[in-house]
Amino acid sequence: MTDLVIRGECTISPMIIPVNNGLKSINFYLLRNEEGLTLIDAGLNTEECWSHLKLGLDKIDQSLEDINQILITHNHHDHVGLVNRVMTALPREIPVYAHQEAIPRLKRNKEFFSMRIDFFQQLYEEMGCGEAGEKQVKKLREAMATNEKHAIQADIIPLLPAGRIANLDVIETPGHSPDHVSFYDNKNKWLFVGDHVLEHISSNAMIEPTSDGKRRKSLIDYSESLKICAKVDADTLFTGHGELITTHREFIAARLQRLNQKAERFLSVIQQGVTTASELAQASYRHKYQSEFALVMSEIIGHLDYLEVAQKINKKKMNGVWHYITV
Ligand SMILES: [Zn+2]
Repeated sequence: MTDLVIRGECTISPMIIPVNNGLKSINFYLLRNEEGLTLIDAGLNTEECWSHLKLGLDKIDQSLEDINQILITHNHHDHVGLVNRVMTALPREIPVYAHQEAIPRLKRNKEFFSMRIDFFQQLYEEMGCGEAGEKQVKKLREAMATNEKHAIQADIIPLLPAGRIANLDVIETPGHSPDHVSFYDNKNKWLFVGDHVLEHISSNAMIEPTSDGKRRKSLIDYSESLKICAKVDADTLFTGHGELITTHREFIAARLQRLNQKAERFLSVIQQGVTTASELAQASYRHKYQSEFALVMSEIIGHLDYLEVAQKINKKKMNGVWHYITV
C-alpha cells in the first residue's frame, strides 16, 4: 500500500502511518511532477510521521530540500503536524497553500478563536444543551491558553477557488471542515481528497463558524461536495486515512444513501414528540452525548438542517431555544 504510484513523469510517494484507532492510518503524500516536488498534507507532529516522510523522500531519491511547496487539504491537526518542522529544516522558505478559511485557524488567530467560543456558546444555548453545552464552552476556553503553540509559523497563501497549483485543480469540498479542498490531477485522474471521502468510515461534517462568524449548514455542504466529487473523473482517491479508493462513485452513492437513512431515523424520533436538538442527541446517543459532545451535536444539527432543507421539518424559537416539528 505504501508503494510508489508512477505514471509517466509523475510519481506519488505515499506516507501511510498505521494508528491504533478508528482512523486506521495517517496518510499524506509527496507528488513529483513537472512542477517539482509537492508535499500534500503533513501528518501528525510525531517522530513516526517525520521518519516516514524521510523514507518517502528516500524512495524517490529526493531530500527535504527538494520540496518546492506544501498544499494543505484542511486545517485539522493530523494534516498539518509537520509543517513547522519541515519549514524549520529547510534552508529557504517555501510556499504553504491552504484555503482562505484555513488561515485564521492555522495561525491560531486570537480574535477568530474568541469569536468561535461565542459562536458555540450561542449555538448550544439555542439548541437547548444547558449544562452540557456550558461544559463544552468551558473546555474551549481552557484550550485557548495552549492554542498558540500549535500555530503554523509560515505565511500561508490562500488557494484560489477553482484555481490551479502544482499542476492540480483546486476543488472546494467543504463539509468535513469549512476550509476543505481536494486536489485533482486531471491527466492521471488522481484525486487527493483529504478527509472528504474515507474508505472505512463516514467523515464527520463538523459544525464550525466561518471566519465571519456565520454558521454554514455543514452536512448540506458535505453532501453537495460529495456530489461534486462523484462527477470528477478519477481512477484513484488518495485519502487522508485508511485505504485508497478506486470506485469512488459507488462509494459516494452509498454514503449519500446512508445519510438519508440516518436523517429518516432522526425524523421518526421527532415524530414521537422530541423537539430540541439536545433532546434528540440524548435520545439517539445517550453515552456519547457526554463523552463526544461536540461530535454528537454536529451530527444532530447537521441532520436537522438536512431535514429542514428537505422540508420535512420546521423550526420555531421559544424562550431562545429552537424547537423542531414535523411538517
Ligand atoms: Zn479532518
